[in-house]
Amino acid sequence: MFRQTKTVLQKLGCLSFRGQRSCRLQSTSAKDRALQYQAGQKIHGFTIREVVAVPDLFLTAVKLTHDKTGAQYLHAARDDSNNLFSVQLRTTPMDSTGVPHILEHTVLCGSEKYPCRDPFFKMLNRSLSTFMNAFTASDYTMYPFSTQNAKDFQNLLSVYLDAVFFPCLREQDFWQEGWRLENEDPKDPNSPLVFKGIVFNEMKGAFSDNERVYAQHLQNKLYPDHTYSVVSGGEPLDIPDLSWQQLKHFHATHYHPSNARFFTYGDLPLEQHLKQINEDALSRFEHMEPNTQVPSQPHWTNPREDHVTCSPDALAPDPARQNTLCMSYLLGDITDTFEGFTLSLLSSLMISGPNSPFYKALIEPKLGTDFSSVVGYDGSTKEASFSIGLQGMAEEDIERVKHIINQTIDDIIENGFEEERIEALLHKIEIQMKHQSTSFGLSLASYIASCWNHDGDPVELLQISHSVSKFRQTLKDNPRFLQDMVKHYFKENTHRLTLSMSPDDAYLEKQAKAEEEKLLQKSQNLSESDRKEIYEKGLQLLEAQSETQDASCLPALKVSDIEPTIPVTPLEMGTAGGIPVQYCEQPTNGMVYFRAMCSLNTLPEDLRLYVPLFCSVITSMGCGSLDYRQQAQQMELKTGGMSVNTAILPDSTEMDMYEQGVLLHSSCLERNLPDMFQLWSDIFNSPHFDDEERLRVLVMMSAQELSNGISNSGHMYAMSRAARSLSPAADLQETFGGMDQVKFMKRIAEMPDLTQVLRTLPRIKRHILNPDNMRCAVNATPQKMSDAAGQLDHFIKDVGINRKERKAVRAHLVERPLDPSAEPGVSPCRKLISEPEYQPCHMKTFYPLPFPVNFVSECIRTVPFTHQDYASLCILARMMTAKFLHGEIREKGGAYGGGARMGSGLFTFYSYRDPNSVQTLSAFRKGVDWAKAGKFSQQDIDEAKLSVFSAVDSPVAPSNKGIGHFLSGVTDEMKQAHRERLFRVSDKDLVEVAGRYLGVGQRTSGVAILGPENETISKDPSWLVK
Ligand SMILES: [Zn+2]
Repeated sequence: MFRQTKTVLQKLGCLSFRGQRSCRLQSTSAKDRALQYQAGQKIHGFTIREVVAVPDLFLTAVKLTHDKTGAQYLHAARDDSNNLFSVQLRTTPMDSTGVPHILEHTVLCGSEKYPCRDPFFKMLNRSLSTFMNAFTASDYTMYPFSTQNAKDFQNLLSVYLDAVFFPCLREQDFWQEGWRLENEDPKDPNSPLVFKGIVFNEMKGAFSDNERVYAQHLQNKLYPDHTYSVVSGGEPLDIPDLSWQQLKHFHATHYHPSNARFFTYGDLPLEQHLKQINEDALSRFEHMEPNTQVPSQPHWTNPREDHVTCSPDALAPDPARQNTLCMSYLLGDITDTFEGFTLSLLSSLMISGPNSPFYKALIEPKLGTDFSSVVGYDGSTKEASFSIGLQGMAEEDIERVKHIINQTIDDIIENGFEEERIEALLHKIEIQMKHQSTSFGLSLASYIASCWNHDGDPVELLQISHSVSKFRQTLKDNPRFLQDMVKHYFKENTHRLTLSMSPDDAYLEKQAKAEEEKLLQKSQNLSESDRKEIYEKGLQLLEAQSETQDASCLPALKVSDIEPTIPVTPLEMGTAGGIPVQYCEQPTNGMVYFRAMCSLNTLPEDLRLYVPLFCSVITSMGCGSLDYRQQAQQMELKTGGMSVNTAILPDSTEMDMYEQGVLLHSSCLERNLPDMFQLWSDIFNSPHFDDEERLRVLVMMSAQELSNGISNSGHMYAMSRAARSLSPAADLQETFGGMDQVKFMKRIAEMPDLTQVLRTLPRIKRHILNPDNMRCAVNATPQKMSDAAGQLDHFIKDVGINRKERKAVRAHLVERPLDPSAEPGVSPCRKLISEPEYQPCHMKTFYPLPFPVNFVSECIRTVPFTHQDYASLCILARMMTAKFLHGEIREKGGAYGGGARMGSGLFTFYSYRDPNSVQTLSAFRKGVDWAKAGKFSQQDIDEAKLSVFSAVDSPVAPSNKGIGHFLSGVTDEMKQAHRERLFRVSDKDLVEVAGRYLGVGQRTSGVAILGPENETISKDPSWLVK
């Protein structure tokens, strides 16, 4: 894995958490118990340094150091059962061979106590973890996991500690994960030698993304003097310069407790963690001087300019406008918490939303399609940076853009910011502290990682409200405080880089040629015996990969450790203004969550393709008396966000039935409930559809975003396309979110005149924002629920004029009661579309794209959720992934990932960043043969069950409780029945469903590949090439 950098505010965005869920048998809460610790107290080889209550985040922070090694430790005690562990090493490479990244992969290939291959992937099936992963950042490597089960925590901790501190680091692991020379066909000694290796391919894939290429260059060039000048993930053609010896040396010097930071979070007792970490790992080390500090970047006395190239983007809205330009400024040290907080706020004021000066100056004149991908504050390096610029620009506009940036900075120094915008931003921080997500521990770990990595104080960073009040005070004392900062950091800063990037038609060709040359350089001096050795090593690796692995050394939970029943979510069904409403009382920390599902049943077919566009602009065009700027301001001041998205919900009992609609979603603090509903009322009653210029800006940004997303989410597009011809719901899903939609948006973005589109929007609005076709859901605290219900009632009455009975477009509508326990005919209903005449058919589609890797998918029509065999197919997909496909597609095939999944009645195979294309399709088929032959053990089945249950039982945030019921009508009883079927799945069931649904002759399937030009496919007329 490779971490993308995020700004502090974005990180704050995931900084959200959940309330008390589990009731462990303890009289006091975890955060109160932790307050009993005393500074100076010694526990299991550690000394407590500091104990601090952090009421903003409902936690107690305990800071410790390990006596013998100096390892640093932070514990955040909080009444959250989703406990987290992470260990973070400062890794500061001085070359671009990707050594920290390859090491991150290789330590997970077996360790002293757990010598079996790939314990990490194997633990995924032996645990109820809610998260397991590893990340390589520019200057640290992090290994986090989380789980709700105490026994599981100990098991995973044991595996993680052993992997990080005592890995085997075998030569064969290095070849598999890093790079190797190997015969193209390992079984044929006469086939040409090529580079292989998981990280090698992963990085080739990563750098097929132009945004990533640009971000990497920008960092390398802004900090040219130390570790930030190299590619920590690995520059593909530098990777083959790394030796196994160098890898082991890097481990010895960086993966040492004296260079480590440990973080634990949750309601499990700290002592147990300390004991285990000390006994299993730290006690076996002595103190050392790691020498991994990153020195400050020497400041330039003159600004610099530079230029780089990239591959042309075939999907860019306008091929003549593909230039990117940014100006980047070196800022202060991130260990100065308040300076970092202020700079990150300042960055938001400068660039976020239509009211910010840079949005007005750069986006609205349409000089580019969107901001450049690295825009804003970046606190992931020792000294932060700020970047501002555009992508999708014409070459002749470059000078103008530079001028505008400088001019805008002058304007900000002159005029400052409106007070209301500052308030809106502080309100956003308040919401982010109150909103609860399910991965709070992980968000905290990543929030503090960079600052702590450079010896900043992580506890200070957690005390967000201290920074907020200091900020308010500073601004009061000096109203020009922010302007002075802009002057200092931007106007007068000579450490500034202007970096432009333009497409080069020969880019991919040059890259391929460079790889060939590298290959020649590595292979030309090989003797006959060297070649023979390479061939033999290739065979050995293949053999090792094909061996059945004995994983019995690894700890594991048992199926009997899984809770037999699900907790019931209490829901209440009611009405407001005659509209059905689902109420769900939850500990939401003073937040209210509102959703409305609006049906598309009456929408004329010719408008369908426009629905995603409608959704993406409806909350951003202005409404009522507010123009779009005022609307954006009001939304920031009063809500936690308002969004509209398409929703296609396959029925849980019939394959050819589904509900189609759009989902409105928003949240707010309790005190702002009337304001939030007023905003929705204005959107329903008087949305603005008259500003063509505004629409053009929104369309351009959304087309650019879609086009940029493909290289990261190619597998999603491949899966969606493969499913298209298999069910009516999948067909509509493809229309709304597939490659066709990407091309449609590109077409709209290229239209010189958008008046026709503008005229289409109100027609869509009449059908969608119609209370006659609507149902709502509210999640709030019990204290606030009746007030929320009253406000909702008021809102529905307020938008009553839009209520019109219209005829559905499709003939076959089936009604399903929202509340299955109510009398039929009385209770309000969901109206589903039924297509009993639907004929699924076989279809193979290929999208040639300028990527060096493929995304491959095959999808098979099976059975809906409530069918007897659904549970068996879920277990089968999981087992096939872990026990067969992972080995074939990732280990042998060299793809970054691949597997099978079951959902919406479809069994889907996929691969991600795959050097192979049609060969992967045969790997899928071999997977089916493997399953039909029943070559798996009871242990394999149990592991698949654990893995499926860890997904089924993953924590749900209070804001999302009951939403499955609201949308799809899946009740707790149905979930419990599914659960019981999952428990009962036997080996016989698995062999049977593999034969019944997946075998050749039994199945109706669709196939899709996204990838580079492909000779095999172009010669095969059974493929549709788009
Ligand atoms: Zn990786």
